[in-house]
Amino acid sequence: MDKKQKIFTFKRGGVHPHENKLTAAQPIVNADVPPLVRIPMAQHLGAPAKVLVSVGDEVKEGQRIGEATGMISAHIHASVSGVVTAIEKANTLTAKQIDFVVIKTGGSFHNWVGEKFPWENLSSQQLVSLVQEAGVVGLGGATFPTHVKLSPPPGKVVETLILNGAECEPYLTIDHRMLLEKSQEILTAIEIVRRILPTIKKVYIGIEINKEDAIDHWTALLAGRSDITVAPLKTRYPQGGEKQLIQAITGKEVPTKGLPADIGVLVENVSTMNAIYEAVVHHKPLIERGLTYTGKGVAKPGNYKVRIGTPISHLIESYGKPEKFAAMISGGPMMGLEIPDENIPVVKSTSGIVFLSPQEDYKVEDRPCIRCAKCLAVCPIGLMPTELAKLADNFLVEEAAGIGLFDCIECGACAYICPSKIPLVGLIRYGKEFYKRKQAQAKK
Ligand code: SF4
Ligand code: SF4
Repeated sequence: MDKKQKIFTFKRGGVHPHENKLTAAQPIVNADVPPLVRIPMAQHLGAPAKVLVSVGDEVKEGQRIGEATGMISAHIHASVSGVVTAIEKANTLTAKQIDFVVIKTGGSFHNWVGEKFPWENLSSQQLVSLVQEAGVVGLGGATFPTHVKLSPPPGKVVETLILNGAECEPYLTIDHRMLLEKSQEILTAIEIVRRILPTIKKVYIGIEINKEDAIDHWTALLAGRSDITVAPLKTRYPQGGEKQLIQAITGKEVPTKGLPADIGVLVENVSTMNAIYEAVVHHKPLIERGLTYTGKGVAKPGNYKVRIGTPISHLIESYGKPEKFAAMISGGPMMGLEIPDENIPVVKSTSGIVFLSPQEDYKVEDRPCIRCAKCLAVCPIGLMPTELAKLADNFLVEEAAGIGLFDCIECGACAYICPSKIPLVGLIRYGKEFYKRKQAQAKK
């Protein structure tokens, strides 16, 4: 990395947890296709999709099996060819009693990358439709439907596109590998997004400086171009939070309750950019995703391309799990969710499976707040995490909403730093859920 390159970062708060990027040098490899997939109809922000198949139906890899039901919803596709053996209700990590389509794998597979479709003369609307048809959602974890993000509300003009390659969560390395292995695809996706939104004047690629090889690779790739700039980012959590990234690179703040489009910015994760490329150039639906399978004591840690719906148990059979571990997490350890059951499948939001060792256990018994104010100091939004958690714990959610409950991005920096190990972010999440349930009941 050129020592003269400017290093960007956000203004307020943040922490630097142990990075533990054990798999950074491991190229992405295809995971084995499982004998059975379990595909939930809720893998995106917004209403669950409606099941389009019945038990006994033969389905083809890539066939639409779930139809988006609302403005903010996304189609779901069969990730393997085979026969539908069940449609059952089950829980995902974020939603209860959702329809799952179970497919027994069999039949032929399609060579998606064998065929390229011309896209250069398609209209903006046609390109957005291809992304929508492919069921692409934000793969950084937010799962916001990408076709909606690519269609800013009337009056909002996007002038800046930021590619999020920060990957600030400990352990995760899939976006790092995407930056190294899929740069041509990502470059094409930039051109696709620019064709959709011709108002874009400037493109940045934000990469934390702990991924020096990726910064060098992109700097060399973009030599002589002034329209796309590599933005090296300080290694600091939550550098990849959308608001933090925008602030770091542009100096602008997304207004409270506002969207990046309000200040003319669009942020897309680098894995999402690859999915946009595949949707438009190969007409490939989002039927698989890259993820990092890792943790101390895992037999075969690595970066794997995994079919959506693959049960975690199948990954465990293939790549092992530590003899003893404190928690199995979906996503990174800071924002991820504990996986209670090995039958839970990989979904569009699964950026990683991380086994935390007993030494890394975050579930130590909590002790009283000692008023040290460390949580206040690290909060990137400038909230009072201890007050929010206390109010949520006492069901005083209206008061909590009044001091920024819904501004919290659930980054977990406060819980990470708290010497009393108070589960601050868990309480805040609970407070948000409780508030929403209360509001829904009041409307009945
Ligand atoms: S989880 Fe919420 S309250 Fe805690 S540091 Fe992050 S933004 Fe602040
Ligand atoms: S960091 Fe923990 S102990 Fe310190 S003020 Fe916040 S909640 Fe209390």
